[in-house]
Amino acid sequence: MIASPNPTFHTSSRHSKAAQADALLAEYLDTQRGFPSFATRASAARHFLYWLRSRRISIAQVGATVVERFARHQCRCQGFHGQGYSPQEAQRPGYITNVRRFVAYLEDRGAIPVPEDHAPVAAQLPAYGNHLILRGYSRGTRSMLSSAAEHFVHWLRLSRIQAQDVDGRDVERFAQHDCRCFLCRKHGTVTAWGVAERRRGASALLQFLRDGGLVPPLSVTAEDPRLTDFRAWLVHRCGVTKQTVVRYLAEATRWLPSLDADPGTYDAITIRNVVLDQPANRSHKSVQLTAIVLRSYLRYLAANDACRPELIHAVPFARGPRNAGLPRFLSPATIEQIIASCDASTPAGLRDRAIILLLARLGMRAGDICQLGLSDIDWTTARLRVAGKSRRAMQLPLPQDAGDALLAYIEQARPSVREDHVFLRLQAPQGPLKSSAIACLVAKARARAGIEGGPTGSHVFRHSLATSMVRAGASLEAVGAILRHQSPETTAIYAKVDVTMLARVAQPWPGGAPC
Ligand SMILES: [Zn+2]
Ligand SMILES: [Zn+2]
Repeated sequence: MIASPNPTFHTSSRHSKAAQADALLAEYLDTQRGFPSFATRASAARHFLYWLRSRRISIAQVGATVVERFARHQCRCQGFHGQGYSPQEAQRPGYITNVRRFVAYLEDRGAIPVPEDHAPVAAQLPAYGNHLILRGYSRGTRSMLSSAAEHFVHWLRLSRIQAQDVDGRDVERFAQHDCRCFLCRKHGTVTAWGVAERRRGASALLQFLRDGGLVPPLSVTAEDPRLTDFRAWLVHRCGVTKQTVVRYLAEATRWLPSLDADPGTYDAITIRNVVLDQPANRSHKSVQLTAIVLRSYLRYLAANDACRPELIHAVPFARGPRNAGLPRFLSPATIEQIIASCDASTPAGLRDRAIILLLARLGMRAGDICQLGLSDIDWTTARLRVAGKSRRAMQLPLPQDAGDALLAYIEQARPSVREDHVFLRLQAPQGPLKSSAIACLVAKARARAGIEGGPTGSHVFRHSLATSMVRAGASLEAVGAILRHQSPETTAIYAKVDVTMLARVAQPWPGGAPC
């Protein structure tokens, strides 16, 4: 008998597949030699291969579910040379980890088809590492974020989830998963801190992939076409800022589906109900926002002759509890205590002091502070350009102490980066400060100054400035000009300030009933 030049030609297909599998196993074992756990790794790979063969599962069919079935199997495997496996060993987590390691090798060799999507995502990991360096993260945070990202990519591959399909639920599943991935050394139950790190790591990587256009943006729900035009109207006709547009559209998205497609059919009752039919847990402020946005939306429709203008008056005024609109303020002495609590010998102290002085002396909003650019400061005339809620910029005089603090911060503490924003994060990720960071630094300064109770937040400085101006005899017009209110009605709440002072000294009405 003449030997076939091609041995696979005469052998059965199953036989040749077995030979291929054996060759892959031998290759794999070569890569694992030298590891202390070589014996276990080899046993796990051999056992898995034997089990696949006994169940007539081809290597190409292997996926997460097959590995899970293997992990659960009631082992009676004989092994290739009659040396059986112990029934317990297949269920040991470390053993399955070694099976996964082998499976990953088979995937890398192309023996198991892997969704094509994973390779490009995994290839981004080095770029992601560089990105973390550029963002200025510390070595420790970088290593945490990188290893969580690597783990996430690995888990996506094991779970056969395509990166472009990932949503918040997948991130949560990843954060909570009982890890058997071979990549990480920490298996089994994970602490709450570990869950948080996984969540943060996965979300940060996804953000990076989204920014790079590798993964489509989250929650791309088709926008109601009515909103598209409303957005354009808000931007071009009303000149509102980006943040306001986002808030208004988010609010309109809540109730727009309950309104008829044709605004011509709107009546006063429908419009009233939009404001009145609110979930019981909505705060007074949120209900007020509904009324404000609805009025604005109707004004937009009326401007385009799409609905009757008188419907605007059908929007009810969301009334709050008595005195709800009363400004809450701190005494001037307390304000000075908070300013003095900033340690001018540290970069953070210099920055916080400059910010709090701008809040207290100019009544700037947190948003104005975040947006303030170096180009908005005119040192020669000691003026600041402040955009405010609308995009109509105003010049404000810079008082001496606020100006000195601002200069000290810029010269001594501000990171030297090519960035126009004045106030930057001092820790990674570097970039402009957000409003939430301002609220946070104000809360810390209050705590340092030992101030308990009273109104919190960064807006309290604005209210306190206006209140002390009113008490010093300033007119509401003057207060409105400093606070850059567009409507005198907004300033009018400060007229109530002295009424409350009177109420405090007034005698209670007999019987307790309000007059
Ligand atoms: Zn077995
Ligand atoms: Zn894992």
